[in-house]
Amino acid sequence: MPLLEIENLSVNYGAIQAVRGLSLTVDEGEVVTLIGANGAGKTTTLRAVSRLLRPVAGRLRFAGRDITRLPADEAVRLGIAQSPEGRQVLARQSVQDNLELGAYTRKGGVRADLQTMYERFPRLGERRHQLAGTLSGGEQQMLAIARALMSRPRLLLLDEPSLGLAPIIVREIFTIIRELNEQGVTILLVEQNARLAMNASHRTYVLEAGQLTFSGDSAQLVNDERVLHAYLGG
Ligand code: ATP
Repeated sequence: MPLLEIENLSVNYGAIQAVRGLSLTVDEGEVVTLIGANGAGKTTTLRAVSRLLRPVAGRLRFAGRDITRLPADEAVRLGIAQSPEGRQVLARQSVQDNLELGAYTRKGGVRADLQTMYERFPRLGERRHQLAGTLSGGEQQMLAIARALMSRPRLLLLDEPSLGLAPIIVREIFTIIRELNEQGVTILLVEQNARLAMNASHRTYVLEAGQLTFSGDSAQLVNDERVLHAYLGG
């Protein structure tokens, strides 16, 4: 049984059909990448999974349970956490306040997890009392990921974690993605940086104008002529 199962998902914004009949699965322990041009529907797909958007058709299952109509906070409680595009940290709150916010669905163990985050992201530890809005872009991205991890997710949804960051920071972010996965976090990753994302993932789905065009093992797709031309500038 897949951890996440998306079946025939369609999401509209008024008359705009942003996602049309999309089906994909993510198995426990996998990193799965969703790539596609701007406006292909990647963010919309993630927001439907985290239950921030209501599908017009289709079904979502998480660990075998139908979550198609589940409220977003219940999805977090079940183990789905999203690090949103553009990071969206609370600029006027401290690093630590942002992290505690990520744990809002939890009762105990938050202190210990803060400590774990500060060990994993030492720069956040050093800056725990600094306002999040004064962090660098890379630090804000780390904060957004750490904030999502504070809910102890089984499935982490990462939307464009490398957006606008310097290459050295991007490498750092991808190292973190790999380490998190090695520690057992399942990840659904949306990325513009297709090559990096494919190299860091087990499987890839390619989305075009709201519909899937290709899918397969990342190691194979990264050498696929059609994908190369469209997304990898090859
Ligand atoms: P990007 O890489 O640019 O973030 P994306 O693949 O994540 O693109 P989405 O953000 O999911 O694409 O958008 C899919 C389509 O839905 C686009 O045509 C977009 O213009 C449209 N769309 C997204 N959000 C809204 C909204 N709030 N209202 C109306 N249309 C929207």
